[in-house]
Amino acid sequence: MSASTPQSAVTVLGLGPMGRALAGALLDAGLAVTVWNRTPGRDRELVARGAAGASSPESAVAASPLTVLCVVDYDAADAIVRGEAVASALKGRTLVNLTADTPARARETGAWAAAHGIGYLDGAIMTPAPTIGTPDAVFLHSGPEELYREHQPVLDALGGTHTHLGADIGRAASYDLALLDIFWTAMAGYAHALALAKAEGVTARELAPFAQGIAAILPPLIEAGAQEADAGSFSGDVNPITSAASSMKHIIQASEERGIDASVMRAAEGLARRVIGLGHGRDDFLRITDLLTPR
Ligand code: NDP
Repeated sequence: MSASTPQSAVTVLGLGPMGRALAGALLDAGLAVTVWNRTPGRDRELVARGAAGASSPESAVAASPLTVLCVVDYDAADAIVRGEAVASALKGRTLVNLTADTPARARETGAWAAAHGIGYLDGAIMTPAPTIGTPDAVFLHSGPEELYREHQPVLDALGGTHTHLGADIGRAASYDLALLDIFWTAMAGYAHALALAKAEGVTARELAPFAQGIAAILPPLIEAGAQEADAGSFSGDVNPITSAASSMKHIIQASEERGIDASVMRAAEGLARRVIGLGHGRDDFLRITDLLTPR
């Protein structure tokens, strides 16, 4: 696709750090980019680089066959696109919503878009704003395959890898939240570890190489866990949950002796103890998935 074809025009609504990165990458790729943001002035640098700054979301949407929306959540997204003027400007065009929220909100927005004659794709961005436009960016997409293929060249201009996960509009958000679940509980663990180490006179710098070693243990555990979780086997040959619960207890004790809140670890240990109580003490820690799965 050349930059002069109408398909290479794209609108970006929302110019937070991520929206600005998306618009910047599209400009770098030579596309005709129109931008809009609720708070004026955030488009200054993009306009200086060649973007067209729109005065309203409806005029922004009308400038391109494809609109990329990226704001804080779906309440904000709804506030922008669900007004009558924007919805009618979007009719017959495509909206790619890269805003993060729940799968239910994505499906509900998909139904709204269908009812208004708007082509709709939902997506998730799995990497930080500085990766956009580089090979490190990771995008997940869901929605009608044909619509995705039609707009793939413009989406590819955002850089990185793009994976279409299927027609169910909620799939990108499902992956997003499951992956962020890993990320934020890991970050909560890291923050807690920093506090515990500091209380014992260990600096973050001293801990860092060994913390990275702990993180490096996770990829093979994730690979093995995928097989075990799908098979429901949870073999604890290497590290039974009784051993895991004992290790967690030491962390809780040492933390609380130092006056450090151990509630996150207490929650994890509580699940491990419940599973042991149900007779699964020889199983792997991931057996707690059973407890977390609604019957
Ligand atoms: P924010 O999540 O802080 O979103 C800021 C944007 O949301 C601004 O454009 C802001 O407009 C807009 N906004 C907030 N409330 C409203 C409202 N009520 N009506 C209209 N617009 C509103 O920053 P990011 O740009 O970083 O994130 C955007 C999305 O990208 C989020 O869903 C985030 O989870 C996702 N994401 C971000 C990553 C990152 O590295 N930043 C990484 C991966 C995903 P205004 O300027 O007027 O306040």
